Amino acid sequence: MRYGWPGGHECAVALSFDVDAESAFVFRFPEKAGRSLAGMEERRFGVRTGVPRILRLLDTYGLRGTFYVPGYTIVHHTAAVRSIRDAVHELGAHGNVHESLDTLSDKEEVQVLEDQLQIWRSSLDMRPTGYRSPSWELNTGSPAILKRYGFAYDSSLMGDDVPYLLDTPAGPLVEVPVQWLLDDAPMYRYAPGSGNGIADPDRVIRMWMQEFDGMRSENGCFVLTMHPWISGRAGRLLGLEQLIRHMRAAPGVWFATVGEIAEWAASSGATGTLTRDPAAGRS
Ligand SMILES: [Zn+2]
Repeated sequence: MRYGWPGGHECAVALSFDVDAESAFVFRFPEKAGRSLAGMEERRFGVRTGVPRILRLLDTYGLRGTFYVPGYTIVHHTAAVRSIRDAVHELGAHGNVHESLDTLSDKEEVQVLEDQLQIWRSSLDMRPTGYRSPSWELNTGSPAILKRYGFAYDSSLMGDDVPYLLDTPAGPLVEVPVQWLLDDAPMYRYAPGSGNGIADPDRVIRMWMQEFDGMRSENGCFVLTMHPWISGRAGRLLGLEQLIRHMRAAPGVWFATVGEIAEWAASSGATGTLTRDPAAGRS
């Protein structure tokens, strides 16, 4: 077996949702966001309608999802974020106003991180241990900063398809990798005038099923990234349900949160094989 998963499972599956709401629009186009009710409402659909629908779907199948939330979403849509927390899904950090880290200096990066931790504290009384960078941009110094601020893992890089470790002066940070193929935005996202069409959902679900089948045979870590304002549309969630049924029908699949996958990687090392029984150290 290429990578050892707990309980002898063949592969891991995590359903993750980046609850950006209007944050990326506000960060990238602040002036337009200030006057475009249309652009803001398109994105508010995600927290208003998409999130409750996604929570219902996960509940139907007894699955726990992982939701990454910018500070902006926590401040402006507190009730939606609390509904995710109260349904016992995992919450992780996702920037403050969806700042793409490649646009920030080290100092600014630290400030943005401190600002979001303050929002987590005051609005949710929580401190996140999982991180996904906005737009999947990470600087070379970012893993060390995350480690310094107590994060257990990052989930923004594409360097493997099983969890791996990023070296930092403060010790390794677990990376639970993502990939563009398993992101709903390049598939479904429609921006008028961009030339991007809306993908046929049957094609998208077929691609995701095929990637899942491949990852299962390769003992991989299937991390699907969705955005409630994009994937929360009714028909697309029917497609996600089809995918969930396909994955549940396959033997040996470990459905987990990204945090649980990271915990397994931290305790079992790079190969996923426990080098020592964790219980053996306790007396
Ligand atoms: Zn995002």
